[in-house]
Amino acid sequence: MLGILAGPGVGEALVGAAVTEELVLDTPFGSPSSHVRIVRVGESRVAVLARHGDENDIPPSRVPSRANVYALKQVGVTHVLAFDEVRSLRDEIRPGDLVIADQVIDRTTRRATTFFDEGISVHVEMARPYCESLRARALGTTGVSTRSVHPRGTYVCVEGPSWSTAAEAHMHRLVGGDILGQTAMPEARVAREAELCAALVCYVVADCEGWRVSTKVDATSVPDSKRENDRRVATGAAMALLAATAEDLHDHPPGSCSCHDALSRAVATSPGAIRPETRARYGVLLARFLAEVGEDR
Ligand SMILES: [Zn+2]
Repeated sequence: MLGILAGPGVGEALVGAAVTEELVLDTPFGSPSSHVRIVRVGESRVAVLARHGDENDIPPSRVPSRANVYALKQVGVTHVLAFDEVRSLRDEIRPGDLVIADQVIDRTTRRATTFFDEGISVHVEMARPYCESLRARALGTTGVSTRSVHPRGTYVCVEGPSWSTAAEAHMHRLVGGDILGQTAMPEARVAREAELCAALVCYVVADCEGWRVSTKVDATSVPDSKRENDRRVATGAAMALLAATAEDLHDHPPGSCSCHDALSRAVATSPGAIRPETRARYGVLLARFLAEVGEDR
């Protein structure tokens, strides 16, 4: 099943979609940001979670990424499209564009960074933080469109909730950042730990202020009406991509890729040494791995 971690705009649009089921879940990592809503997108059932809560009242540092990803895993999600509002650090990435991010620089400082923080040692590969196969699917759905979709981009994830200073914006550009946001991490990391295929669709709603030499195109000089229009264009494009990707996954079910057995190459602890309380804590996260190594009871 396809799961959606919805940011502002996309989340509100999906709440208006046909909800067929509403699940109130708890996880070993706390409560997720919202109920998990099963909505119908075309022929597909899609599980939707509002990352910042239904009222947009959960700030980035307090988004329970572990509980959110665990809850999606719990309801049978195998593929996740995460949607995120970002700001641009590059001339060629304009408000209204989409960026299917392929890299992340994690600059967060105050978040739980992993599921596996006790009782077991697990080191997943993160060189490619997103599933190339799902990224290609999402990109393939945009082929006939004239809107601007960037097939790659490096997302700098800052702690927030404020945006960066001008000096920081320059630094983010110097280290290779293309877009700036506040929620990609630890979300991508824990999705990999949960053996989910994940892709991040970023909708650009503004320029990051302060890095341009010319002030006439600085974000502060952009009228509110243009900002609102850019936001509407970007979230509309994100919704179209979501619908097309859901349809594509429904019509052409994906084969297995290396995301789905990420733990097979990552668990350093001998399976026989994993204690019952540890198995209970990690629940659905370890179930496939323990079955694979014959330690599932
Ligand atoms: Zn994958």
